[in-house]
Formats: sequence, structure tokens, C-alpha cells
Amino acid sequence: MKYYKVTWEVDIEAESAEAAAVEALSMHRDEESIATVFEVSDMEGTKKIDLDAVCSSCGFPCASNTAHLHQGEYIGECCWDERLKITE
Ligand SMILES: [Zn+2]
Repeated sequence: MKYYKVTWEVDIEAESAEAAAVEALSMHRDEESIATVFEVSDMEGTKKIDLDAVCSSCGFPCASNTAHLHQGEYIGECCWDERLKITE
């Protein structure tokens, strides 16, 4: 395991700081939300990770630029294993 620092930023217009935080929370909890872009930093630097796809195997979000397109559906790194590689 490695340590990562994950950052999510969003611009929100609200009546107060607390209202802005509440709005941010609801964006995170909304499955349809576009709040899917994170900055992930490690010792080597910072990457932008956009979880814009869904792994068709486990249903978890995954990044379409690293996911594997398998029979027309995305398979995330989470579920991409030797068994699937063979069927590619
Ligand atoms: Zn998966």
C-alpha cells in the first residue's frame, strides 16, 4: 500500500460557508453528480483522476482512461484480472 493525498475542489455559490459545504456534500452523495474529478498526489507527483465510468463487473466508479473496454463495457482496474485478459 502507498499513501496518497486526494483533493477535490469545486466552486459553489451559496448564502454562507456552511451552505456551501452542505452543497458540496450533496454533490458527493449524488450518484449522477459530475463531482468525479480528483487530484491524487504521491511522492512522484500529482495526477488528475476522473472517475467518469462505472466498472460493469462490480459497479464501482472507475476512470475511463485506465479502464478496459470489454465487450462494449468498462471493466475497471479493480476487476481486470488474468481471466479477463485471456478473453480480450
Ligand atoms: Zn470492478
